[in-house]
Amino acid sequence: MSVITPAMTDLAFQQCINPSCRATFAVGQTCFACPECGDLLDVVYEWDRLPVPKRLSEIEARWSDRLNPLNFSGVWRFRDLLPFAPDESIVTVGEGQTLLQTADKVAQYVGLNAGNLKLQYEGMNPSGSFKDNGMTAAFTHARMVGAHRVACASTGNTSAALAVYCSATDFGFKAIIFIGSGKIAYGKLAQALDHGALTIQIVGDFDDAMQRVRQVADRLNIYLMNSVNPFRLEGQKTIMFRVLEALAWEPPDWIVVPGGNLGNSSAFGKAFIELKHLGLIDRVPRLAVINAAGAKTLEQLVGQGLSWSNGLPDATLTQAYYDKLDADNLKASTIASAIEINRPVNLKKCLRALDFCDGVVRQVGDQEIMDAKARVGSGGLGCEPASAASVAGAKRLREEGIIAPSDRVVCILTGHQLKDPTATVAYHGTDQENFEKVLGSRGVRRAGFANRPIIVPNDLDDIIRTIALYSEAQAKGGKDA
Ligand SMILES: *Cc1c(COP(=O)(O)O)cnc(C)c1O
Ligand SMILES: [Zn+2]
Repeated sequence: MSVITPAMTDLAFQQCINPSCRATFAVGQTCFACPECGDLLDVVYEWDRLPVPKRLSEIEARWSDRLNPLNFSGVWRFRDLLPFAPDESIVTVGEGQTLLQTADKVAQYVGLNAGNLKLQYEGMNPSGSFKDNGMTAAFTHARMVGAHRVACASTGNTSAALAVYCSATDFGFKAIIFIGSGKIAYGKLAQALDHGALTIQIVGDFDDAMQRVRQVADRLNIYLMNSVNPFRLEGQKTIMFRVLEALAWEPPDWIVVPGGNLGNSSAFGKAFIELKHLGLIDRVPRLAVINAAGAKTLEQLVGQGLSWSNGLPDATLTQAYYDKLDADNLKASTIASAIEINRPVNLKKCLRALDFCDGVVRQVGDQEIMDAKARVGSGGLGCEPASAASVAGAKRLREEGIIAPSDRVVCILTGHQLKDPTATVAYHGTDQENFEKVLGSRGVRRAGFANRPIIVPNDLDDIIRTIALYSEAQAKGGKDA
Protein backbone atom coordinates (compact mmCIF):
# COMPACT_ATOMS: atom_id res chain seq x y z
CA MET A 1 0.00 0.00 0.00
CA SER A 2 1.42 3.35 -0.98
CA VAL A 3 1.38 6.32 1.33
CA ILE A 4 -0.88 9.23 0.54
CA THR A 5 1.08 12.43 0.78
CA PRO A 6 -0.74 15.03 2.90
CA ALA A 7 0.04 17.72 0.34
CA MET A 8 -2.10 15.88 -2.21
CA THR A 9 -4.99 14.93 0.02
CA ASP A 10 -5.77 18.31 1.47
CA LEU A 11 -5.97 19.85 -1.99
CA ALA A 12 -8.51 17.25 -3.03
CA PHE A 13 -11.35 15.95 -0.90
CA GLN A 14 -14.76 14.31 -1.19
CA GLN A 15 -17.89 16.31 -0.65
CA CYS A 16 -21.59 15.49 -0.46
CA ILE A 17 -23.49 17.08 -3.37
CA ASN A 18 -26.51 17.87 -1.17
CA PRO A 19 -26.36 21.64 -0.47
CA SER A 20 -28.09 21.23 2.87
CA CYS A 21 -25.36 18.76 3.96
CA ARG A 22 -22.05 19.46 2.16
CA ALA A 23 -20.20 17.07 4.49
CA THR A 24 -16.57 16.61 3.47
CA PHE A 25 -14.31 13.58 3.65
CA ALA A 26 -10.65 13.04 2.95
CA VAL A 27 -9.64 11.39 -0.32
CA GLY A 28 -8.24 8.53 1.76
CA GLN A 29 -11.69 7.61 3.05
CA THR A 30 -13.81 5.01 1.33
CA CYS A 31 -17.53 5.68 1.34
CA PHE A 32 -19.80 5.39 -1.66
CA ALA A 33 -22.64 7.45 -0.26
CA CYS A 34 -22.57 10.35 2.18
CA PRO A 35 -22.54 8.80 5.68
CA GLU A 36 -24.46 11.85 6.92
CA CYS A 37 -27.37 11.98 4.46
CA GLY A 38 -26.90 9.14 1.93
CA ASP A 39 -26.49 11.43 -1.07
CA LEU A 40 -23.81 11.16 -3.79
CA LEU A 41 -20.25 12.34 -3.27
CA ASP A 42 -18.08 14.48 -5.53
CA VAL A 43 -14.32 14.74 -5.71
CA VAL A 44 -13.59 18.43 -5.14
CA TYR A 45 -10.32 20.32 -5.61
CA GLU A 46 -8.73 23.43 -4.13
CA TRP A 47 -7.97 24.71 -7.62
CA ASP A 48 -6.46 27.96 -6.36
CA ARG A 49 -3.68 26.05 -4.65
CA LEU A 50 -3.05 23.55 -7.44
CA PRO A 51 -0.79 23.91 -10.48
CA VAL A 52 -3.42 24.09 -13.22
CA PRO A 53 -2.36 24.61 -16.86
CA LYS A 54 -3.09 28.11 -18.15
CA ARG A 55 -4.32 26.76 -21.45
CA LEU A 56 -5.53 23.32 -22.40
CA SER A 57 -3.00 23.20 -25.21
CA GLU A 58 -0.18 23.09 -22.62
CA ILE A 59 -1.21 19.49 -21.96
CA GLU A 60 -0.19 18.55 -25.51
CA ALA A 61 3.46 18.78 -24.48
CA ARG A 62 2.94 15.48 -22.66
CA TRP A 63 2.44 13.72 -26.01
CA SER A 64 6.12 14.04 -26.72
CA ASP A 65 6.96 12.04 -23.59
CA ARG A 66 4.97 8.91 -24.31
CA LEU A 67 7.50 6.51 -22.79
CA ASN A 68 6.21 7.70 -19.43
CA PRO A 69 3.09 5.52 -18.90
CA LEU A 70 1.30 8.40 -17.18
CA ASN A 71 1.75 10.57 -20.26
CA PHE A 72 0.89 7.72 -22.63
CA SER A 73 -2.46 7.23 -20.85
CA GLY A 74 -5.31 9.19 -22.44
CA VAL A 75 -6.64 9.69 -18.92
CA TRP A 76 -3.54 10.58 -16.93
CA ARG A 77 -1.90 12.96 -19.35
CA PHE A 78 -4.72 15.21 -18.10
CA ARG A 79 -3.88 14.44 -14.46
CA ASP A 80 -3.61 18.16 -13.61
CA LEU A 81 -7.39 18.24 -14.10
CA LEU A 82 -8.07 15.26 -11.81
CA PRO A 83 -5.34 15.77 -9.23
CA PHE A 84 -6.45 13.47 -6.43
CA ALA A 85 -3.61 10.95 -6.59
CA PRO A 86 0.16 11.14 -6.29
CA ASP A 87 1.83 9.90 -9.51
CA GLU A 88 3.27 6.84 -7.77
CA SER A 89 -0.22 5.54 -6.88
CA ILE A 90 -1.61 5.64 -10.39
CA VAL A 91 -2.88 2.36 -11.88
CA THR A 92 -2.89 2.46 -15.68
CA VAL A 93 -3.08 -0.12 -18.47
CA GLY A 94 -2.70 2.44 -21.27
CA GLU A 95 -6.38 3.39 -21.52
CA GLY A 96 -7.77 6.28 -23.54
CA GLN A 97 -6.01 5.80 -26.91
CA THR A 98 -9.23 6.83 -28.60
CA LEU A 99 -10.04 8.91 -31.64
CA LEU A 100 -12.58 11.36 -32.93
CA GLN A 101 -13.75 10.23 -36.35
CA THR A 102 -15.40 12.51 -38.90
CA ALA A 103 -18.24 10.39 -40.25
CA ASP A 104 -19.89 12.01 -43.25
CA LYS A 105 -22.08 9.08 -44.26
CA VAL A 106 -23.49 8.94 -40.75
CA ALA A 107 -23.85 12.76 -40.81
CA GLN A 108 -26.04 12.39 -43.89
CA TYR A 109 -28.21 9.84 -42.07
CA VAL A 110 -28.53 12.14 -39.04
CA GLY A 111 -29.23 15.17 -41.25
CA LEU A 112 -26.07 17.15 -40.55
CA ASN A 113 -23.83 18.98 -43.00
CA ALA A 114 -20.72 17.13 -44.16
CA GLY A 115 -17.90 17.51 -41.66
CA ASN A 116 -20.22 18.33 -38.77
CA LEU A 117 -20.67 14.92 -37.18
CA LYS A 118 -17.80 13.40 -35.25
CA LEU A 119 -17.93 10.06 -33.51
CA GLN A 120 -15.83 9.74 -30.36
CA TYR A 121 -14.82 6.09 -30.56
CA GLU A 122 -14.34 4.76 -27.03
CA GLY A 123 -14.34 1.17 -28.26
CA MET A 124 -10.57 1.52 -28.68
CA ASN A 125 -10.01 1.20 -24.95
CA PRO A 126 -8.26 -1.96 -23.66
CA SER A 127 -11.55 -3.53 -22.56
CA GLY A 128 -13.47 -2.15 -25.55
CA SER A 129 -15.62 0.49 -23.84
CA PHE A 130 -15.35 3.93 -22.22
CA LYS A 131 -15.53 2.28 -18.78
CA ASP A 132 -11.72 2.01 -18.71
CA ASN A 133 -11.50 5.79 -18.31
CA GLY A 134 -13.31 5.45 -15.00
CA MET A 135 -11.72 2.19 -13.92
CA THR A 136 -8.18 3.53 -14.06
CA ALA A 137 -9.16 6.33 -11.68
CA ALA A 138 -11.15 4.12 -9.30
CA PHE A 139 -8.36 1.50 -9.19
CA THR A 140 -5.93 4.29 -8.43
CA HIS A 141 -8.08 5.29 -5.48
CA ALA A 142 -8.46 1.65 -4.41
CA ARG A 143 -4.67 1.37 -4.42
CA MET A 144 -4.35 4.56 -2.38
CA VAL A 145 -6.64 3.15 0.33
CA GLY A 146 -5.06 -0.32 0.22
CA ALA A 147 -8.13 -2.19 -1.09
CA HIS A 148 -7.71 -5.58 -2.75
CA ARG A 149 -11.11 -7.14 -3.31
CA VAL A 150 -13.06 -5.01 -5.81
CA ALA A 151 -16.65 -5.58 -6.94
CA CYS A 152 -19.30 -4.24 -9.28
CA ALA A 153 -22.76 -4.95 -10.57
CA SER A 154 -22.77 -4.72 -14.29
CA THR A 155 -24.69 -4.92 -17.52
CA GLY A 156 -21.33 -6.14 -18.86
CA ASN A 157 -18.87 -3.40 -19.68
CA THR A 158 -18.10 -2.32 -16.13
CA SER A 159 -17.34 -5.93 -15.26
CA ALA A 160 -15.19 -6.37 -18.38
CA ALA A 161 -13.19 -3.27 -17.47
CA LEU A 162 -12.88 -4.31 -13.84
CA ALA A 163 -11.68 -7.75 -14.87
CA VAL A 164 -9.06 -6.24 -17.20
CA TYR A 165 -7.67 -3.94 -14.49
CA CYS A 166 -7.38 -6.87 -12.09
CA SER A 167 -5.75 -9.23 -14.57
CA ALA A 168 -3.42 -6.74 -16.28
CA THR A 169 -1.98 -5.14 -13.14
CA ASP A 170 0.09 -6.50 -10.34
CA PHE A 171 -1.22 -4.90 -7.17
CA GLY A 172 -3.12 -7.92 -5.81
CA PHE A 173 -6.58 -6.88 -6.99
CA LYS A 174 -9.27 -9.60 -7.04
CA ALA A 175 -12.39 -9.08 -9.17
CA ILE A 176 -15.93 -9.96 -8.05
CA ILE A 177 -18.68 -9.36 -10.57
CA PHE A 178 -22.48 -9.41 -10.17
CA ILE A 179 -24.63 -9.84 -13.25
CA GLY A 180 -28.35 -10.38 -13.84
CA SER A 181 -29.46 -13.64 -15.43
CA GLY A 182 -29.50 -13.68 -19.22
CA LYS A 183 -28.87 -9.94 -19.31
CA ILE A 184 -25.28 -9.77 -20.46
CA ALA A 185 -24.03 -9.66 -24.04
CA TYR A 186 -21.71 -12.54 -24.91
CA GLY A 187 -18.69 -10.42 -25.77
CA LYS A 188 -18.78 -8.92 -22.29
CA LEU A 189 -19.40 -12.17 -20.42
CA ALA A 190 -16.52 -13.67 -22.39
CA GLN A 191 -14.22 -10.95 -21.09
CA ALA A 192 -15.18 -11.41 -17.43
CA LEU A 193 -14.58 -15.15 -17.68
CA ASP A 194 -11.39 -14.95 -19.72
CA HIS A 195 -9.82 -12.42 -17.35
CA GLY A 196 -10.49 -14.68 -14.38
CA ALA A 197 -13.08 -12.63 -12.48
CA LEU A 198 -15.24 -14.34 -9.84
CA THR A 199 -18.55 -14.03 -11.73
CA ILE A 200 -21.75 -14.24 -9.69
CA GLN A 201 -24.96 -14.49 -11.65
CA ILE A 202 -28.14 -13.78 -9.72
CA VAL A 203 -31.76 -14.21 -10.78
CA GLY A 204 -32.83 -10.66 -11.57
CA ASP A 205 -31.80 -7.65 -13.60
CA PHE A 206 -29.14 -4.95 -13.26
CA ASP A 207 -31.11 -2.99 -10.68
CA ASP A 208 -31.34 -6.13 -8.51
CA ALA A 209 -27.63 -6.88 -8.94
CA MET A 210 -26.79 -3.28 -8.04
CA GLN A 211 -28.73 -3.50 -4.79
CA ARG A 212 -27.01 -6.77 -3.85
CA VAL A 213 -23.49 -5.62 -4.61
CA ARG A 214 -23.96 -2.60 -2.37
CA GLN A 215 -25.06 -4.88 0.47
CA VAL A 216 -22.21 -7.31 -0.10
CA ALA A 217 -19.62 -4.54 -0.37
CA ASP A 218 -20.87 -3.14 2.94
CA ARG A 219 -20.91 -6.48 4.72
CA LEU A 220 -17.57 -7.80 3.47
CA ASN A 221 -15.80 -4.46 3.23
CA ILE A 222 -15.19 -4.84 -0.49
CA TYR A 223 -14.26 -1.85 -2.63
CA LEU A 224 -17.18 -0.86 -4.91
CA MET A 225 -16.37 -0.07 -8.54
CA ASN A 226 -19.79 1.08 -9.77
CA SER A 227 -20.24 4.65 -10.91
CA VAL A 228 -21.56 5.72 -7.48
CA ASN A 229 -17.81 5.72 -6.89
CA PRO A 230 -16.95 9.41 -7.45
CA PHE A 231 -13.38 8.61 -8.49
CA ARG A 232 -14.63 6.77 -11.57
CA LEU A 233 -16.31 9.90 -12.79
CA GLU A 234 -13.03 11.81 -12.44
CA GLY A 235 -11.48 9.49 -15.01
CA GLN A 236 -14.49 9.76 -17.31
CA LYS A 237 -14.10 13.55 -17.46
CA THR A 238 -11.12 12.93 -19.73
CA ILE A 239 -13.38 11.70 -22.55
CA MET A 240 -14.40 15.34 -22.92
CA PHE A 241 -10.80 16.51 -22.63
CA ARG A 242 -9.82 14.22 -25.50
CA VAL A 243 -12.77 15.39 -27.59
CA LEU A 244 -11.67 19.00 -27.08
CA GLU A 245 -8.07 18.08 -27.81
CA ALA A 246 -9.12 16.48 -31.12
CA LEU A 247 -11.03 19.66 -31.99
CA ALA A 248 -7.97 21.83 -31.34
CA TRP A 249 -9.62 22.92 -28.05
CA GLU A 250 -12.63 24.47 -29.79
CA PRO A 251 -15.80 23.20 -28.03
CA PRO A 252 -18.45 21.65 -30.34
CA ASP A 253 -22.10 22.75 -30.24
CA TRP A 254 -23.40 19.42 -28.97
CA ILE A 255 -22.25 16.38 -27.06
CA VAL A 256 -24.66 13.46 -27.44
CA VAL A 257 -24.32 10.50 -25.10
CA PRO A 258 -26.41 7.44 -24.22
CA GLY A 259 -27.71 7.46 -20.65
CA GLY A 260 -27.81 4.35 -18.46
CA ASN A 261 -26.60 4.78 -14.90
CA LEU A 262 -25.81 8.37 -15.95
CA GLY A 263 -22.19 8.30 -14.82
CA ASN A 264 -20.84 9.43 -18.15
CA SER A 265 -23.22 12.36 -18.61
CA SER A 266 -22.53 13.38 -15.00
CA ALA A 267 -18.78 13.24 -15.56
CA PHE A 268 -19.06 15.28 -18.77
CA GLY A 269 -21.02 17.95 -16.91
CA LYS A 270 -18.41 18.08 -14.14
CA ALA A 271 -15.64 18.37 -16.73
CA PHE A 272 -17.30 21.41 -18.31
CA ILE A 273 -18.14 23.01 -14.95
CA GLU A 274 -14.48 22.76 -13.96
CA LEU A 275 -13.05 23.83 -17.34
CA LYS A 276 -15.29 26.90 -17.31
CA HIS A 277 -14.43 27.68 -13.70
CA LEU A 278 -10.74 27.46 -14.53
CA GLY A 279 -11.15 29.71 -17.56
CA LEU A 280 -9.88 26.96 -19.86
CA ILE A 281 -12.96 27.17 -22.13
CA ASP A 282 -15.23 30.15 -22.70
CA ARG A 283 -18.15 28.30 -24.27
CA VAL A 284 -19.90 25.18 -23.00
CA PRO A 285 -21.39 22.66 -25.47
CA ARG A 286 -25.00 21.60 -25.04
CA LEU A 287 -25.50 18.08 -23.71
CA ALA A 288 -28.05 15.59 -25.05
CA VAL A 289 -28.60 12.45 -22.97
CA ILE A 290 -30.38 9.64 -24.80
CA ASN A 291 -32.38 6.96 -23.01
CA ALA A 292 -33.71 3.79 -24.59
CA ALA A 293 -37.51 3.78 -24.71
CA GLY A 294 -37.46 0.63 -22.54
CA ALA A 295 -35.40 2.34 -19.82
CA LYS A 296 -36.49 5.95 -19.83
CA THR A 297 -36.48 7.08 -16.21
CA LEU A 298 -34.45 10.24 -16.87
CA GLU A 299 -36.49 11.20 -19.92
CA GLN A 300 -39.76 10.74 -18.04
CA LEU A 301 -38.68 12.59 -14.91
CA VAL A 302 -37.18 15.53 -16.79
CA GLY A 303 -40.38 15.56 -18.87
CA GLN A 304 -42.31 15.88 -15.61
CA GLY A 305 -40.22 18.91 -14.74
CA LEU A 306 -37.54 17.37 -12.55
CA SER A 307 -34.46 19.60 -12.54
CA TRP A 308 -31.29 20.27 -10.57
CA SER A 309 -32.90 23.13 -8.61
CA ASN A 310 -29.58 24.19 -7.07
CA GLY A 311 -28.94 20.72 -5.74
CA LEU A 312 -32.42 20.12 -4.33
CA PRO A 313 -34.38 18.34 -7.08
CA ASP A 314 -37.93 17.42 -6.12
CA ALA A 315 -37.44 14.00 -4.48
CA THR A 316 -41.18 13.30 -4.42
CA LEU A 317 -41.28 13.15 -8.25
CA THR A 318 -38.52 10.55 -8.33
CA GLN A 319 -40.02 8.53 -5.49
CA ALA A 320 -43.45 8.50 -7.13
CA TYR A 321 -41.88 7.31 -10.40
CA TYR A 322 -40.03 4.46 -8.69
CA ASP A 323 -43.12 3.51 -6.68
CA LYS A 324 -45.06 3.26 -9.93
CA LEU A 325 -42.34 1.07 -11.48
CA ASP A 326 -42.64 -1.23 -8.46
CA ALA A 327 -46.44 -1.22 -8.44
CA ASP A 328 -46.56 -2.13 -12.14
CA ASN A 329 -43.62 -4.53 -11.75
CA LEU A 330 -42.00 -2.73 -14.67
CA LYS A 331 -38.46 -3.84 -15.53
CA ALA A 332 -36.10 -2.11 -17.91
CA SER A 333 -36.14 -3.74 -21.35
CA THR A 334 -34.07 -2.80 -24.40
CA ILE A 335 -31.72 -4.42 -26.89
CA ALA A 336 -29.24 -1.74 -25.74
CA SER A 337 -28.31 -3.80 -22.69
CA ALA A 338 -25.66 -1.32 -21.49
CA ILE A 339 -28.39 1.24 -20.79
CA GLU A 340 -31.05 -1.23 -19.62
CA ILE A 341 -31.33 0.52 -16.25
CA ASN A 342 -34.44 1.93 -14.59
CA ARG A 343 -32.87 3.32 -11.40
CA PRO A 344 -29.88 5.37 -12.51
CA VAL A 345 -27.65 5.91 -9.50
CA ASN A 346 -26.20 9.18 -10.79
CA LEU A 347 -29.56 10.77 -11.55
CA LYS A 348 -28.91 13.88 -9.44
CA LYS A 349 -25.45 14.51 -10.86
CA CYS A 350 -26.87 14.14 -14.35
CA LEU A 351 -29.49 16.79 -13.55
CA ARG A 352 -26.62 19.07 -12.56
CA ALA A 353 -24.90 18.38 -15.89
CA LEU A 354 -28.12 19.08 -17.83
CA ASP A 355 -28.56 22.32 -15.90
CA PHE A 356 -25.02 23.55 -16.56
CA CYS A 357 -24.88 22.44 -20.20
CA ASP A 358 -28.40 23.59 -21.18
CA GLY A 359 -29.10 19.92 -21.80
CA VAL A 360 -31.94 17.95 -23.33
CA VAL A 361 -33.07 14.36 -22.84
CA ARG A 362 -34.74 12.10 -25.38
CA GLN A 363 -35.78 8.46 -25.63
CA VAL A 364 -35.30 6.37 -28.76
CA GLY A 365 -36.83 2.98 -29.55
CA ASP A 366 -34.94 -0.21 -30.25
CA GLN A 367 -35.84 0.04 -33.95
CA GLU A 368 -34.15 3.45 -34.16
CA ILE A 369 -31.20 2.16 -32.17
CA MET A 370 -30.63 -0.86 -34.42
CA ASP A 371 -31.05 1.18 -37.61
CA ALA A 372 -28.62 3.82 -36.33
CA LYS A 373 -26.19 1.08 -35.34
CA ALA A 374 -26.26 -0.33 -38.87
CA ARG A 375 -25.58 3.16 -40.28
CA VAL A 376 -22.68 3.65 -37.89
CA GLY A 377 -21.34 0.27 -38.96
CA SER A 378 -21.52 1.08 -42.67
CA GLY A 379 -20.19 4.63 -42.28
CA GLY A 380 -18.19 4.67 -39.07
CA LEU A 381 -16.12 2.56 -36.77
CA GLY A 382 -18.90 0.28 -35.55
CA CYS A 383 -20.44 0.11 -32.11
CA GLU A 384 -22.68 -1.87 -29.80
CA PRO A 385 -26.43 -1.11 -29.62
CA ALA A 386 -26.33 1.23 -26.58
CA SER A 387 -23.73 3.43 -28.27
CA ALA A 388 -25.93 3.87 -31.33
CA ALA A 389 -28.59 5.46 -29.12
CA SER A 390 -26.45 8.61 -29.33
CA VAL A 391 -26.66 8.68 -33.13
CA ALA A 392 -30.38 7.82 -33.09
CA GLY A 393 -30.87 10.61 -30.54
CA ALA A 394 -28.95 13.13 -32.63
CA LYS A 395 -31.13 12.22 -35.62
CA ARG A 396 -34.27 12.71 -33.54
CA LEU A 397 -33.08 16.12 -32.29
CA ARG A 398 -32.21 17.11 -35.87
CA GLU A 399 -35.72 16.17 -37.00
CA GLU A 400 -37.19 18.23 -34.18
CA GLY A 401 -35.10 21.19 -35.29
CA ILE A 402 -33.32 21.40 -31.94
CA ILE A 403 -30.02 20.52 -33.59
CA ALA A 404 -29.39 22.53 -36.79
CA PRO A 405 -27.70 21.00 -39.88
CA SER A 406 -24.81 23.42 -39.39
CA ASP A 407 -24.28 22.49 -35.71
CA ARG A 408 -21.07 20.69 -34.86
CA VAL A 409 -22.09 17.50 -33.11
CA VAL A 410 -20.05 14.88 -31.26
CA CYS A 411 -21.75 11.54 -30.56
CA ILE A 412 -20.04 9.27 -28.05
CA LEU A 413 -19.65 5.70 -29.31
CA THR A 414 -19.38 4.18 -25.86
CA GLY A 415 -18.59 0.56 -26.73
CA HIS A 416 -17.02 -1.66 -29.36
CA GLN A 417 -18.97 -3.34 -32.17
CA LEU A 418 -17.83 -6.83 -31.08
CA LYS A 419 -19.34 -6.54 -27.60
CA ASP A 420 -22.73 -7.78 -28.79
CA PRO A 421 -22.41 -9.85 -31.97
CA THR A 422 -25.79 -11.47 -31.27
CA ALA A 423 -27.70 -8.24 -31.95
CA THR A 424 -25.65 -7.43 -35.04
CA VAL A 425 -25.99 -10.86 -36.64
CA ALA A 426 -29.72 -11.00 -35.86
CA TYR A 427 -30.17 -7.67 -37.68
CA HIS A 428 -28.11 -8.45 -40.78
CA GLY A 429 -28.69 -12.20 -40.96
CA THR A 430 -31.23 -14.15 -42.98
CA ASP A 431 -32.49 -16.35 -40.13
CA GLN A 432 -35.99 -14.98 -39.50
CA GLU A 433 -36.47 -17.06 -36.40
CA ASN A 434 -33.32 -15.63 -34.88
CA PHE A 435 -34.40 -12.10 -35.85
CA GLU A 436 -37.69 -12.61 -34.02
CA LYS A 437 -36.05 -14.10 -30.96
CA VAL A 438 -33.36 -11.44 -30.53
CA LEU A 439 -34.94 -8.31 -32.01
CA GLY A 440 -38.62 -8.97 -32.72
CA SER A 441 -39.17 -9.61 -29.01
CA ARG A 442 -37.87 -6.05 -28.44
CA GLY A 443 -40.31 -4.53 -30.89
CA VAL A 444 -37.88 -4.29 -33.81
CA ARG A 445 -39.92 -4.98 -36.96
CA ARG A 446 -37.58 -4.22 -39.86
CA ALA A 447 -33.91 -4.42 -40.69
CA GLY A 448 -34.01 -1.65 -43.27
CA PHE A 449 -30.24 -1.26 -43.42
CA ALA A 450 -29.38 -4.95 -43.30
CA ASN A 451 -26.39 -6.15 -45.26
CA ARG A 452 -27.52 -9.72 -45.87
CA PRO A 453 -25.06 -12.51 -46.37
CA ILE A 454 -25.74 -14.22 -49.69
CA ILE A 455 -26.04 -17.97 -49.79
CA VAL A 456 -24.47 -19.40 -52.95
CA PRO A 457 -23.84 -23.01 -53.97
CA ASN A 458 -20.21 -24.05 -53.70
CA ASP A 459 -19.66 -23.59 -57.44
CA LEU A 460 -17.16 -21.20 -59.04
CA ASP A 461 -19.48 -20.03 -61.85
CA ASP A 462 -22.31 -19.39 -59.43
CA ILE A 463 -19.99 -17.42 -57.14
CA ILE A 464 -18.62 -15.30 -59.98
CA ARG A 465 -22.12 -14.63 -61.36
CA THR A 466 -23.32 -13.58 -57.92
CA ILE A 467 -20.44 -11.16 -57.40
CA ALA A 468 -21.04 -9.60 -60.82
CA LEU A 469 -24.76 -9.27 -60.12
CA TYR A 470 -24.23 -7.55 -56.78
CA SER A 471 -21.42 -5.31 -58.01
CA GLU A 472 -23.77 -4.06 -60.72
CA ALA A 473 -26.59 -3.46 -58.23
CA GLN A 474 -24.19 -1.60 -55.94
CA ALA A 475 -22.91 0.60 -58.76
CA LYS A 476 -26.49 1.51 -59.66
CA GLY A 477 -27.47 2.14 -56.05
CA GLY A 478 -24.69 4.69 -55.54
CA LYS A 479 -22.04 4.65 -52.89
CA ASP A 480 -24.45 3.92 -50.05
CA ALA A 481 -26.00 0.76 -51.49
C1 LIG B 1 -22.01 1.81 -19.33
C2 LIG B 1 -22.40 2.06 -20.73
C3 LIG B 1 -23.32 3.05 -21.09
C4 LIG B 1 -24.05 3.86 -20.08
O1 LIG B 1 -23.25 4.81 -19.43
P1 LIG B 1 -23.70 5.42 -18.05
O2 LIG B 1 -22.52 6.14 -17.56
O3 LIG B 1 -24.07 4.26 -17.16
O4 LIG B 1 -24.88 6.28 -18.32
C5 LIG B 1 -23.58 3.26 -22.42
N1 LIG B 1 -22.97 2.53 -23.38
C6 LIG B 1 -22.08 1.56 -23.07
C7 LIG B 1 -21.46 0.78 -24.17
C8 LIG B 1 -21.76 1.30 -21.75
O5 LIG B 1 -20.90 0.34 -21.46
ZN1 LIG C 1 -24.57 14.43 2.81
